[in-house]
Formats: sequence, structure tokens, C-alpha cells
Amino acid sequence: MTHTIKTRFAPSPTGYLHLGNVRTALFNVLLARQQGGRFVLRIEDTDRERSRPEYVAAVLEDLRWLGLDWQEGPEVEGPHAPYTQSERTAIYAEYYRRLDQAGQVYPCFCTPAELALSRKAQRAAGKPPRYAGTCARLNEAERQARYERGLQPTLRFQVPMGQVVEFTDLIRGPQRFASEDIGDFVIRRADGGPQFFFVNAVDDALMGITHVLRGEDHLTNTPRQLLLLKALQLPAPEYGHMSLIIGSDGGPLSKRAGDLSIRQLRAAGYLPEALLNYLARLGHRYEQDVWMTPAELAAGFATVQMGRAPARYDETQLLHWQAEAVRCATPERLWAWMGETVHTLIPSPCRDDFVVTVQPNIRFPVDAEFWAQRLFGEELPISEDSRTVIAAAGSAFFKHALAAYIEHGAAYQPLVDHLKQRTGAKGKNLFMPLRAALTGETHGPELARILALTPPEMVQRRLQAWC
Ligand code: GLU
Repeated sequence: MTHTIKTRFAPSPTGYLHLGNVRTALFNVLLARQQGGRFVLRIEDTDRERSRPEYVAAVLEDLRWLGLDWQEGPEVEGPHAPYTQSERTAIYAEYYRRLDQAGQVYPCFCTPAELALSRKAQRAAGKPPRYAGTCARLNEAERQARYERGLQPTLRFQVPMGQVVEFTDLIRGPQRFASEDIGDFVIRRADGGPQFFFVNAVDDALMGITHVLRGEDHLTNTPRQLLLLKALQLPAPEYGHMSLIIGSDGGPLSKRAGDLSIRQLRAAGYLPEALLNYLARLGHRYEQDVWMTPAELAAGFATVQMGRAPARYDETQLLHWQAEAVRCATPERLWAWMGETVHTLIPSPCRDDFVVTVQPNIRFPVDAEFWAQRLFGEELPISEDSRTVIAAAGSAFFKHALAAYIEHGAAYQPLVDHLKQRTGAKGKNLFMPLRAALTGETHGPELARILALTPPEMVQRRLQAWC
């Protein structure tokens, strides 16, 4: 039998995707690609209050922007459609029925207040709180009486006693849970809505999911899900629970998730490959720490390289990969990314030269705007440092520079030789004043390129200004 790997990402559309949940999506994509398998997108919108259609649309858009395409799921469809849980109610009803028929569930009429009281009593007795089994012991007449009083029960799964639930976590190794410690748990709410871990497990099985990489906050759900799948005689996937991303302050990242939504990062000018290169290394080790294409990220991916220690968000690293993404991007792409302000300032024949000139010096479109303004803007702001450098060089230097430019134009070496010979200046003392006069800055793109790119009358005007 051929065994094709199938992974999935199952977001709840209750907000925008952020670095944390996109990393989960990414690792599942990389695992599927590395193994030549398939990746499924499933929308877990069982929380009717908090789920919103606009968040679903945003999930699809953000994943596509990142290049994390799915082979089955919304809009793509596939053999296990629908891929949105709110459209699968009839399927879930069938699996509730099966559990009922097998005598593995019972209605529970306990009120939230009663449950809270019971938990409190158990804690006071030094026991871990779990459902006391009250409603499991009701006989048929007692159940009927409660229904007649109009009470709406939840549906509880009866956990078999005396069992050990064992599984090997793909990241954390062997795991063992005693069924006594789990307690009977709710799989359908009193309003008829399904509980997350029931539909999540049922759908994984029905959709043929073989591997689930998810956050370690789900680790305690796994034994419950394994018990459910066993009771339903459905296959269980292999699970791997990833350490969560923590903020640079050591606190949970979700606190700052708003700052780090994919939409906001995209609006700030982050390139998708920067986020992918960064996230793929957050809790996963590659042999080499070099820039990789999405295909290379997939080829080098392995669950054994995933760590158990919390992954710490580090903006410096993210910026590093952003600079690498810019360095590796094509001029056409960068040009489009630079945006309106740059497009207005740079004459069409200079586009590619401009991009190549500033590419090593920019990380974001605002940086490109900065250099477009410095190289092509009518007004040239002069930085404090530049003023000092210009003053130190003195007007004679600029007179010679202007003469050299008129004679040699943008032919860099002859111009520099000429200037060196006339002024005796060399090294920093020669390049800095030129750079300062031409760009108003003491750092920036290569001087030879700047000289070639700046319109000649503008070069002359900028040198003239200090003669
Ligand atoms: N909808 C769940 C979540 O967003 C999915 C958990 C899982 O991956 O199994 O947390």
C-alpha cells in the first residue's frame, strides 16, 4: 500500500493570521512537500460567535500571498469537501449517533454552577478536577424527568477506566496518559454545537490526515482525541506538538499578535520569503543558516530537527531575513513592491538601475522612497554629518569636483583620479564629501552607481552648491 503523507492547517477564523499560526501552517506545508504529500486547509468555524467570513477570506488571501497553497480545501475543493466545519453538521450528527449506539456517550444535565462547585471540592481535597460522573449514573427515568423539565443536556463521552493512552509525539517523544486522569468530557454543547476536539479528530480521520503538527497548547487534547477515534474505529494521525512562540520579553506572543498579523507585516513591506525563512527556523534547525527558496526550505525540513524549547520571537532575525529577501528578489518584483512614491520620482529609463543601486541598502519600501528622494528629488535635505564633511572639504574641493565631472561625466575612475590629482585628497576624504554633496548622507549605495544614476544637471547643481 502506498502511504502518502497528508497534513493540514485547521485555523479558527476568529482573527487575522499572525506569525504563530502561520508557522503552524508553514511546518505542515513543508512536511507535506518534503514527503511529496498533500496539504489540506480546513476552516474550523464551530465557534459561531467569534468566527467571521471576512477572517476566512483573509486566511485564504494571506496563505496565498505566502505561497502556502493547499491541494484540498476551500475554493480548491477535493474528495472530502466541504472543508468548512459549519457545513459538515450532518456528518458530525452521524458520528454522534455512532457513539450513542455504541453506548459510549450520555447526556449530562449538570449546570455550569454545579460543575464549578464539584471542581472546587475536588481541588480542596487535593485532587485534580475532572467530571465526577454524576450524569453517567442516571437511569432512563431520571433522564426523562430532566428532559421533561426542559433541560438541554450536553453530550459527554464516557472515558473507559483503567486504560493508558500512549502515543509517540513527533517532536516530544513518547507520551502516556492514564484514562482515570482524563474524566468524561463534553463532545457536544447544550445548544447542539460540536466541541472542538470531537470535530477536529473526526475530520482529520475522514480527510485522511496522516500527520498533525500543532501548538503544544493542544497536547492535552490529544489523549481525548485518540480515545474518541478508537471508539469510532477511525484512524488516528501522528501528532507533533510544537513549542509555542514567545515574545522577546518572554511573555506569550499572542499578547502582541495584533502587531504581528500577516496583513500588517505585508503592509509594512515584508516579503513573503522573509517571513518563510524566518519562521522555518523558529523551533526548527536547518543544516545551513543561509537564505533558502521555498523549495529548499521544504527539502531540508525534518520533524527531528524541531526543538522542544520555546521559540523566542526576535525582530533582529526577522529583519535579517527581510534584507536577504530583498537581496534575492528580482528587479521587476522590487520595483512593484517599492510603490507609488518611488514610481513617481524615478524616470522609466532609470528603473532597473535605481533598483540595483539601492537594493543592498534597503529593507522596506520606505527605504526605497528615501533613496528615490535623495537621488531624484528636487529638494535635497543635508544631514548634520554631511554638513560637517562638506565644510571640512571646503569650496576648493567642490570646484575641482565640478570641473572633473564636466570633463569626465559619470566615468568614475577617471573622475576620481582627476580629483585626487588636483586636491591631494584620497580615501574617505575624497569619497565622503562627494557622497555628502550628492546625496545629503554620509552612508548609502555605491558612489559610482549614484554618480551614473543621478541626472547630470542635478549632479552639477549639487556640486555647484558648495563651490
Ligand atoms: N482550530 C484549532 C486551532 O486553531 C486547530 C487545532 C489543531 O491544529 O488541531 O487551534
